[in-house]
Amino acid sequence: MKRHNRSSNGVVDASDPPGSNDLESRVVEDGGFRHGLNPLRFVGVFVICLMGFSVFFSFSLILKDSSTHALWAVAEATRTLDDFNPQQNTVTSLESDSSHLFEVWNDEVLGGLLPGGFDAKSCLSRHHSGSYRKESQYKPSSYLLSRLRSYESHLKRCGPYTMSYNITVDKLKAGQQPNPSESDCKYVVWISYSGLGNRILTLASAFLYALLTNRVLLVDRGTDMADLFCEPFPEMSWFLPLDFPISNQFNKFDQRSPHSYGNILKNATLEKSDTPFLYLHLAHDYGDHDKLFFCEQDQAAFQNINWLIIKTDNYFIPSLFLIPSFEQELSSLFPEKETVFHFLGRYLFYPTNSIWGLITRFYEAYLAKADERIGIQIRVFDTGVGPFQHVLDQILACAMKENLLPEVDENNQIIVPSTNQKTKAVLMTSLSSGYLDKVRDIYWEHPTVTGEIIGVYQPSHEEYQQTEKKMQNKKAWAEMYLLSLTDKLVTSSWSTFGYVAQGLGGLKPWILYKPENATAPDPPCRRAMSMEPCFHAPPFYDCKKKTGIDTGAVVPHVRHCEDMSWGLKLVDHVSDL
Ligand code: GDP
Repeated sequence: MKRHNRSSNGVVDASDPPGSNDLESRVVEDGGFRHGLNPLRFVGVFVICLMGFSVFFSFSLILKDSSTHALWAVAEATRTLDDFNPQQNTVTSLESDSSHLFEVWNDEVLGGLLPGGFDAKSCLSRHHSGSYRKESQYKPSSYLLSRLRSYESHLKRCGPYTMSYNITVDKLKAGQQPNPSESDCKYVVWISYSGLGNRILTLASAFLYALLTNRVLLVDRGTDMADLFCEPFPEMSWFLPLDFPISNQFNKFDQRSPHSYGNILKNATLEKSDTPFLYLHLAHDYGDHDKLFFCEQDQAAFQNINWLIIKTDNYFIPSLFLIPSFEQELSSLFPEKETVFHFLGRYLFYPTNSIWGLITRFYEAYLAKADERIGIQIRVFDTGVGPFQHVLDQILACAMKENLLPEVDENNQIIVPSTNQKTKAVLMTSLSSGYLDKVRDIYWEHPTVTGEIIGVYQPSHEEYQQTEKKMQNKKAWAEMYLLSLTDKLVTSSWSTFGYVAQGLGGLKPWILYKPENATAPDPPCRRAMSMEPCFHAPPFYDCKKKTGIDTGAVVPHVRHCEDMSWGLKLVDHVSDL
């Protein structure tokens, strides 16, 4: 403002209050204008004015820009993400309020995928995982974001113990369907079943099915679901209440259960429109009648049934893409088909604080400082615990052929390190410790031909699969998550454990082919077509023609999997096939 008081000949207006501009006052008093024009002082004043003007000009340009807000947000994001150094985390810093950090990360890195309004302390992983991940190269569609926001509102209206929920449960107890004027809430109940990798994939499948059919998903907590996963919604639990009337039958539900849809179709034991709930058996051993779930006309028959109860160990999403009534909606939700689990996974699955502790402590101790992180997930489905020589040979052949790990120089004792010696950290996961020992010894006993230093680490070796063991599942979840934080990933065929890691990480892994007759396959591995999981037991049926077909050849984006010739997976780029 003062500038405008200056008269055109450069003389300061006498009405200016003293000290209102200290710099100018001093210049005037010290002999600038009062004592005539000292050329040196004049140059000084001129330079200062010029600097002031250029700063003012830059700010005015920024402020004129309509995207100023975005610019500040980016600056802020960079600052806050940089400020959060995972290696300096203390318990206090992790638990301090980080809602601002979360909002920025969610907007900038996850494209607004997550809802706001969470309590940071209740789920530290949701607020801090952004500091451990690279930014995803994929962005969720605005349609997916709007459908997720409306799902969250729907859940608030129909979730556990809301008026609508209570009415619908009362009707279920009475063996009746509620009158639509009393409650229009409909549900998918997911039964906790199978290994942890399977559960994560089936839960994502059930969620997408609920989204497509305007239902609310309620999650059976089984023995450990609440210990493993944060609640994904800020104002309403996704867990099925413990007093849900038919929870005690979940373990007994199978293909032959009276309320099983396939069984009802096969034996005409019940009129399906009369039943207050339907049990959908979609597990690996399901029969042809159960598979009619994937037919459009059968989907139409479910519309009036309030409770659909699903037991599955299959990632069944690829076959939802083959149901014509879902086609348009799915392509609006996921214009890039291979991002389905990537986004659903990052929306739904965050490790609870105790598991986040396992993840961050391991990451900081062994992975954080490396120039590159390589994940190798080893899952052997043969009998016996291993380690098996042919599996070790296969892992090494894959890693070296694909330039994931360097060869070693067996003839030299030492290779003089270059000035910028690179380190690679290899994260191995396996039930057996034998692979770790052997790979680590190779890189300890010999130098690499590239001069790189290779560290090999494995968080656990549980020896046997014990799905019911809580600590094994906690470690398994921590390990899947750690694998998802690597830069390059090698996975084992047929393993949902690996599928979870690749999907959460946004990584197209190198898949180790399944060995036959205890022999390392040649080639040992191949790059995945997409980061999507494989549906291991899809139907091969044309619902319209009522005949068998190859469902992997119907549309370009649903193809057979690399690791299981009869499985189905979503892909984007047909040219990759
Ligand atoms: P999949 O059988 O490979 O498809 O994976 P799942 O996760 O569904 O089931 C395997 C289960 O075995 C896991 O959930 C763990 O309980 C256990 N398991 C298998 N491999 C590992 C491993 O490398 N680490 C740990 N901690 N557990 C494992």
